[in-house]
Amino acid sequence: MSSGERGAITVLVADQVLTLDAQGTIHTPGAVTIEGATIRAVGPPPSTPAGEVVDLRGCVLLPGLVNTHTHTPMWVFRGLTEDVPRGEWLTGRLLPLERRLGPDELRRGALAGCLELIENGVTTIADRYGHMDAVATAVETSGLRAVVGHSLFDRSAEADLARSEALVERFGTDPARSRVWAGLAPHATDSCGPDLLRRVRRLADRTGARVFIHLAQSEEEVATVAAREATGCAGYLDALGLLGPEVVVAHATYLSDAEADLVGARRTAVAHCPSSNAKLEGRVAPIARMRRAGAVVGLGTDAACCNNGMDLFDEMKIAGLLNKVATDDPAALPALDILRAATSEAARALGIDHLVGTLEPGKRADVIAVRTRGAHLRPWHDPVANLVYAARGSDVTAVFVDGRPLLRERRLVELDAERSLADATQTAWVLADARA
Ligand SMILES: [Zn+2]
Repeated sequence: MSSGERGAITVLVADQVLTLDAQGTIHTPGAVTIEGATIRAVGPPPSTPAGEVVDLRGCVLLPGLVNTHTHTPMWVFRGLTEDVPRGEWLTGRLLPLERRLGPDELRRGALAGCLELIENGVTTIADRYGHMDAVATAVETSGLRAVVGHSLFDRSAEADLARSEALVERFGTDPARSRVWAGLAPHATDSCGPDLLRRVRRLADRTGARVFIHLAQSEEEVATVAAREATGCAGYLDALGLLGPEVVVAHATYLSDAEADLVGARRTAVAHCPSSNAKLEGRVAPIARMRRAGAVVGLGTDAACCNNGMDLFDEMKIAGLLNKVATDDPAALPALDILRAATSEAARALGIDHLVGTLEPGKRADVIAVRTRGAHLRPWHDPVANLVYAARGSDVTAVFVDGRPLLRERRLVELDAERSLADATQTAWVLADARA
């Protein structure tokens, strides 16, 4: 397989191609022609293919999924923080575990998390955590496209700013120049006071980095900010110039109607993590209201210990179900909107819609193949509804990033999956033993 080589031409031929372009064009059957890292053509299968043909009959092709919010190293915590009362998860359960891990353990966890994401058809992630220098090395090795941010807190502001600047120095902030690039990742509105957030704003202005922050993810956060500011978590960010199209707010669970309207009015990008919000908080974020007001909404898996997996097919279905319940309207958030929230709109949220998120000539060749032969995917009357409500991450059979195959016939192409998973599992067992 030579498609990752510069200039080599590969033609992916499948039963169907969903481009997710502005018109929602679907080709049945279809082909995607890749030259090097770039899509050269999308359409019906060519009668005389210009390069090596990859036979993906029995599959549909779609853009690689874009995960707008995750923490890959937290893969090692899966199963250690279950069914916790509201308000106790973060400080009561998670922080004691996090204190036990150093950069080597986090790097192993991150690689395992990346493998899980690739197996589920994710090609781009927005990843943020501590020790991001080590984590980013794993992300880079995995072959995923990624924006990486080192989490900033008041309590360690100087060191966190230095590490954030080092990431920006190492990777740059331009997704067109580098498959892995850097963002700025202040932790949340309660853990970051105005002085730190002003410095983040200035650093973003100077470097062009996008800003990623948790917003109103818990009642404690809302109470802390309310004691400090009269305007609520969203108003607090807005006053500091941190709502807008270049800011990605995660969760936005506990927002008033006025705050949801403000987030939307500023055209802010929202990372919606429905299964994490449901499992950790028992809540649904006011997504319909934010979208109506103008927010750009992409889906996120959050971390493996929040929900308990990193599968955007799960998130698509759960987003649909929960938002229908939350709005008391079964017609709310239709399947095409949900599929876009995992592809084209998610790319817009991360500011990379000029590069990925649709299958169109000139874009990067981030493509996945979903096998449609399973009983749970027949009949194939409505491809979009089948992908959103019936497909699973385990139906993904091939994954390409920049034209480079990361997964073929459900096997990782370059990485030693068994060894990576065994290393990270060992770390997880040490944690579990220490907790006991
Ligand atoms: Zn998060």
